[in-house]
Amino acid sequence: NKMVILKRYVTGFPSEDDMEVVTGTAHLAVPPGSAAMVVKNLYVSCDPYMRGRMTKHDRPSYVPDFVPGEVLVNFGVGKVMASGHPDFKVGDLVWGMTGWEEYTLVPKPETFFKINHPELPLSYYTGVLGMPGLTAWAGFFDVGKPKKGDYVFVSAASGAVGQLVGQLAKLTGCYVVGSAGSDEKVNLLKTKFGFDEAFNYKKEQDLDAALRRYFPEGIDIYFENVGGQTLEAVLDNMRVHGRIPVCGMISQYNLEQPEGVHNLFQVVAKRLRMEGFMVFDYFNQYYKFEEEMAGYLKEGKVSYVEDVADGLEKAPAALIGLFTGRNVGKQLVAVARE
Ligand code: NDP
Repeated sequence: NKMVILKRYVTGFPSEDDMEVVTGTAHLAVPPGSAAMVVKNLYVSCDPYMRGRMTKHDRPSYVPDFVPGEVLVNFGVGKVMASGHPDFKVGDLVWGMTGWEEYTLVPKPETFFKINHPELPLSYYTGVLGMPGLTAWAGFFDVGKPKKGDYVFVSAASGAVGQLVGQLAKLTGCYVVGSAGSDEKVNLLKTKFGFDEAFNYKKEQDLDAALRRYFPEGIDIYFENVGGQTLEAVLDNMRVHGRIPVCGMISQYNLEQPEGVHNLFQVVAKRLRMEGFMVFDYFNQYYKFEEEMAGYLKEGKVSYVEDVADGLEKAPAALIGLFTGRNVGKQLVAVARE
């Protein structure tokens, strides 16, 4: 059983050396009488929040810290190889919280979701049809409360979540601008995902001026993925009664001292609603979301770009690449091709 373990807790920017690919014994059978299942992992997902789990916290975080010496865990797609659970049969395709390893013994299969559209690429269940897709859908519609004609800004716009937020905004009849960290990504936003405008934030000397250029009348919805200086520039460009679904703040995850945002009074002056949300609060709506999104994909209304690393050996570099912007689209790791 090839697996990726955490070698040591991380401070500051993570390195490949903080993780290690090792070989251990695989659990291929379910303990007699238990309701567990064994999953053969096909694809595992790389997600920014994993960085937080690599740090030792002195008070409980919203997800438990990883443990040095133990396998990393995250969402993945797998095939059931053995099961003592009445709802899961050998051969079922599922996605849920699994290990960065070839085979995982899942003690609570009921936390997994069944894959109802195996005719779509299975890897999509780490992205557009999985956790990031649900994040975009819930954050944009439930927290953002969009209306037709709204001016929408998305940061980290070409990523797993961002590319979907932009496309959902276009389907809603909004005007959408995205920012991303390379010209290649900006081009994708405009040509593949249908954003009205996009810009490379690394090439802008003055983010405030860039936002004024793209939003002369201000921003109604800012889908927040990065935090820091981007948030500060956005706050000055929000319209009265604007909404900011706070999905994440990736620019802060590797800083030992988070940056300050100096103009939070704009929340008062512009009567903004800035609201954090967590995707797991929406897991009870997953199958409704799956049907809606599978429909969009089949009708060609939504497209999705993935960045697939081949093999668990590539997983540490793929994870770290999220923090340098190396990934183009949803980063995942192919563990086994069925
Ligand atoms: P992405 O696929 O967007 O990958 C991360 C991207 O972030 C990189 O490609 C890079 O793109 C950008 N980035 C990295 N470092 C910085 C930086 N210092 N400043 C600005 N941009 C940076 O990741 P996801 O779509 O999976 O995640 C996007 C956000 O959503 C994250 O903040 C994540 O934590 C959050 N999230 C929150 C969830 C929730 O339940 N609240 C669930 C899932 C995700 P670029 O080249 O454009 O800079």
